[in-house]
Amino acid sequence: MKTTCPHCKRAFSARQFIQTHRSGVNVERKCPNCGCWFRLTSQMAWLHIAGLLGLLIPSLANLALGPGPHQIPLALASFLGGCVALGAMLYGKMVVVRRRDNH
Ligand SMILES: [Zn+2]
Repeated sequence: MKTTCPHCKRAFSARQFIQTHRSGVNVERKCPNCGCWFRLTSQMAWLHIAGLLGLLIPSLANLALGPGPHQIPLALASFLGGCVALGAMLYGKMVVVRRRDNH
């Protein structure tokens, strides 16, 4: 899985991002090629978190409630939540936050 820098359009694997910074729900990454910082748009970051919650809550409810007729709907709900989270992470639009460090 590679992430493309929105500024220089080069793709990098997750290991190549040496510098990352968390601000709220956003995780900013520094491009190893051009030095700009970028992240998912805020809407996509929130969608990613909503998808993770949609994965986690039905899964925990399924574990807590035990066997029964609710198992398949809760399993489908957690699968959909996981798909939403993964889709937001893989296909979400990236935006440039800062062009370069000013150190
Ligand atoms: Zn770049």
